[in-house]
Amino acid sequence: MLRPNGSALNRDYEKRPYWHATMPAIPSYRGRALPDTADVVVIGGGYTGINAARVLARGGAAVTLLEAEHLGFGGSTRNGGIVHPGYKWGPGELIERYGEDTGRALFRETMDAYGLITRLIADEGIDCEFRECGYLDVAWARSHADHLRSSVETFRRFGIEVEFVPKERLHEEIGTTFYHGGLVFPPSGLLHPGKYFAGLAAAADRAGADLHDGVRARTIRRQADGRLVVETDRGAILTKEVVVGTNGYTDGVVPSLRRRVIPIGSYIIATEPLPEELARSLSPKGRAFFDTKNFLYYWHVSEDRRMIFGGRASFLPTSVDRTAAILHKGMLEVHPQLASYRVEYAWGGNVAFTFDRMPHVGRKDGITYAMGCCGTGVALMTALGTKVGEWLGGGPAPALASLSFPLVPAPYEGRPWFLPFAGEWFRLQDRLARRG
Ligand SMILES: Cc1cc2nc3c(=O)[nH]c(=O)nc-3n(C[C@H](O)[C@H](O)[C@H](O)COP(=O)(O)OP(=O)(O)OC[C@H]3O[C@@H](n4cnc5c(N)ncnc54)[C@H](O)[C@@H]3O)c2cc1C
Repeated sequence: MLRPNGSALNRDYEKRPYWHATMPAIPSYRGRALPDTADVVVIGGGYTGINAARVLARGGAAVTLLEAEHLGFGGSTRNGGIVHPGYKWGPGELIERYGEDTGRALFRETMDAYGLITRLIADEGIDCEFRECGYLDVAWARSHADHLRSSVETFRRFGIEVEFVPKERLHEEIGTTFYHGGLVFPPSGLLHPGKYFAGLAAAADRAGADLHDGVRARTIRRQADGRLVVETDRGAILTKEVVVGTNGYTDGVVPSLRRRVIPIGSYIIATEPLPEELARSLSPKGRAFFDTKNFLYYWHVSEDRRMIFGGRASFLPTSVDRTAAILHKGMLEVHPQLASYRVEYAWGGNVAFTFDRMPHVGRKDGITYAMGCCGTGVALMTALGTKVGEWLGGGPAPALASLSFPLVPAPYEGRPWFLPFAGEWFRLQDRLARRG
């Protein structure tokens, strides 16, 4: 519906993920009796935990999954739905940082993660609007466009056929003149995160995983016989192994993990459905979009033609109303043609950053963890949860397990007091890059 007052943000949007409004109900696993013992206790019911539980249960282990809120409460049903390989560092940078063999293995792992999720969706018959549409990384600054252009050769050396699109041809890919060029990355796609997660939860249930909503793990202690006791607010479970998949919601259940993970908010708005012609002009090829700034935006047009527009928005303690206003302004800078369309949903969730901006997986004394996706977790955390399950079942360790997990080099117990300062620094860098 066209709005008479132009570009002002309407205030009557729903403060919940659009995905929650349009996903099938996940059965409630609240109030079920907890077992006294398990082979494996999984903490966290997102992509990481549910996939670890699915694989372990299918392999015959007695697996109990504990989710403090409700299954899928975290990033796994709040995200932008962009399914893509990659880390903060490209293949060339991975080799510079970790050496030839490890760098290549890490890059292969993220590319394999994309292959794994496409197979998993097909094998489990998950109806989640998955489409392999490729993404376009758009250059916020001229220097970023040069960097994108020069990355083409590197990706080709690693067998990925990317394409640089200069500014004058960008209209073939996206309905804006705001950017300086772009890079098309074909092996990537889009899905409905809520429908995808519901399909995964059903698959874990079918495999025999014992799922629990509303149970927070409080502490883990080791007994004299080497087994672990997971204390929860509903009683204790004795187990041989624990998997921790709590990403941006990591609390003090394993204090050494909380000192390594920095939760950062990411926020999204969704407009009302757009007219067909407008939707096509915004995204002629139906791709997902990212821009190259630190305070990045990510966006796409959904299957039902809504603009789904997300970004970091703020590193200060904030609210959905404030971030919706910031994102709405940003969306209109990029796509002024959306000025008269209403926002119908606004929401946020936590991603997990790490000091080296890499995800981390590890296993020590019966506790295995996978976390720190740095905002890129739909494919990767699906794959790492799956691989952790296989690892505990006797399979190989993920390549990421060879990295050491750095501490945040500051007095830090999970409350990221330094983020506003880091945020200002990143914002300044973005401004300077654009001017330059
Ligand atoms: C707004 C937003 C947009 C994003 N967009 C994208 C995108 O487009 N593409 C992409 O690849 N990635 C994206 N991500 C990142 C992606 O969603 C995450 O990487 C992924 O969902 C992480 O999955 P997870 O299972 O590791 O953690 P989560 O899904 O966050 O689950 C962790 C769970 O652990 C539970 N928990 C914590 N402590 C305990 C405890 N002590 N006991 C029991 N349970 C506990 C929490 O309640 C939570 O449900 C986005 C994230 C957000 C927030």
